[in-house]
Amino acid sequence: MATEQTKFSVMCSLFNWTQRAKSPAKKRAKFRKFLDSFCADRNFFPAIRLVLPNLDRERGSYGLKESVLAISLIDALGMSRDSEDALRLINWRKGGAKTGANAGNFALVATEVLQRRQGTASGGLTIKEVNDLLDQLAASENRAEKTQVLSTFIQKTNAQEMKWIIMIVLKDLKLGISEKSIFHEFHPDAEDLFNVTCDLKLVCEKLRDRNQRHKRQDIEVGKAVRPQLAKRVANAAEAWKKLHGKEVVVECKFDGDRIQIHKNGTEIHFFSRNFLDHSEYAHAMSEIIQQNILVDRCILDGEMLVWDSSLNRFAEFGSNQEIAKAARDGLDSDRQWLDVAFDILYFGDTSVIHQTLKERHEILRKVVRPLKGRLEILVPNGGLNSHCSSGEPCWSFIAHNVDEVEKFFKETIENRDEGIVVKDLGSKWEPSDRSGKWLKLKPEYIQAGADLDVLIIGGYYGSGRRGGEVAQFLVGLAERPSPNTHPKRVGTGLSDDELDALVTKLKPYFRKYEYPKKRPPSFYQVTNHSKERPDVWVDSPEKSIILSITSDIRTIESEVFAAPYSLRFPRIDRVRYDKAWYECLDVQSFIELVQSSNGT
Ligand code: ATP
Repeated sequence: MATEQTKFSVMCSLFNWTQRAKSPAKKRAKFRKFLDSFCADRNFFPAIRLVLPNLDRERGSYGLKESVLAISLIDALGMSRDSEDALRLINWRKGGAKTGANAGNFALVATEVLQRRQGTASGGLTIKEVNDLLDQLAASENRAEKTQVLSTFIQKTNAQEMKWIIMIVLKDLKLGISEKSIFHEFHPDAEDLFNVTCDLKLVCEKLRDRNQRHKRQDIEVGKAVRPQLAKRVANAAEAWKKLHGKEVVVECKFDGDRIQIHKNGTEIHFFSRNFLDHSEYAHAMSEIIQQNILVDRCILDGEMLVWDSSLNRFAEFGSNQEIAKAARDGLDSDRQWLDVAFDILYFGDTSVIHQTLKERHEILRKVVRPLKGRLEILVPNGGLNSHCSSGEPCWSFIAHNVDEVEKFFKETIENRDEGIVVKDLGSKWEPSDRSGKWLKLKPEYIQAGADLDVLIIGGYYGSGRRGGEVAQFLVGLAERPSPNTHPKRVGTGLSDDELDALVTKLKPYFRKYEYPKKRPPSFYQVTNHSKERPDVWVDSPEKSIILSITSDIRTIESEVFAAPYSLRFPRIDRVRYDKAWYECLDVQSFIELVQSSNGT
């Protein structure tokens, strides 16, 4: 059967079966059988792109995350926005009385709503028709157009088929079969070819003959490559042991965005880890790259950071959304994009990933003319290190013993850096490899223990298993003498039982806020410009409970919350049923704590 003429309902049966099946081997066998029987014309791409929607870059983004998708579906179904089903979609994380089991899974909540409105008979769409409509959805420029396409989908599908369309749009099918297995069942060389091209269409087309092995392909300028990754180790001793006898370079682990710069004459691409082309960097960086990369064709691997030229140091990188916005709008006059290239993958007409890291560093020195605060290279005894006034290596150096690694790691902790990366200088650069050629060490969390006792002031509903129940907390500090609080969100750290017990105790005091979330009770202070609102507030601080939280040692200045700092990666250490609510930390003590841990 020709792939494009295969009914989408056949794929839906495959998806339903795969999701229910327990045995990985059976899931794989079923997928292989589907390819054999329903893609007999060897046109695999139209089907495989629906199975691996997160890897498909042929279609632009749909611009539909759950919240927008909810509104678009409500409009497409012609429902009133305050009807029970509309609220069910909008509050999909929470679920309602009937949605309980599905809460936290948008596609399932949507199916429940759709089942009441769609027939059970298959709409009969073919794979081609589904792809054509998805193309239209991605190409539509505003929500009204998207709603129109969704409405066509709804007319031509039943609720089961629509469920899978929604999962495809959200780019996560939750099939319980890995991308690796899917690639493997399709063709033994598919994963390798994808890793060096990040192009699913090309992979499907080049490997049409599934019995014919494909010669290992090297990387090319203009095609994103899946990055070499680092394996986490616990301490310097473990890193040193793992790279025993090797020549080792130790580098600062910068906290920015992993970006591959592909230069091909005047054509420049900035590929992220998910192989998205971030053309928004072009405005600020293209000219600098043209002038300071001294070859016509090359691929640099590195980290995009923000440099503060007035303070002469790295600035906080910020959240992805802030970055995207700043990249679009340009940074302010003092802050500028800085690319720190720590590797080179292609140079002139050849890939250099098979050369050793030591050799690649030498090429990097030749190819890039560093420009302070805009384009730097990370190589031992040069590049960024030339900024270090003491003469000591400050960003990267060749280590001779474990003590040097340990000392450098301690320094990065003192400087509030992300950590360090330890690399085998004799190693090749391998796409998508995390086998231990690069090792990363990150600071431990500080045991703030009793010093960071915060009060629960609100809760957020969870998703998945925790759908419909509070799973994360908004916590606050006291502002003495009045009980105003400055909030921060914490989630992980408690066992299921501990979380259940805590939520049960607090449940009577949770005050719900339906969409749109309203102002908090007056004794809580949140910044006005922040959209951060929990799903429930604890309706009086006296009824609440203290949590001891631990957090990443570093703090960032917070724009989202009212407190002057916000902790990174906070985790709940213990529930303090033994403490009274007023024993929680106050803002002033918190600031002192932060400043003393920052050494200011
Ligand atoms: P993490 O959350 O720890 O950054 P990750 O899964 O994003 O992990 P890993 O490959 O495990 O990525 O860790 C290495 C990451 O660290 C790289 O992807 C890169 O973004 C970043 N990085 C910062 N400095 C360096 C460096 N000097 N060498 C390599 N990677 C670096």
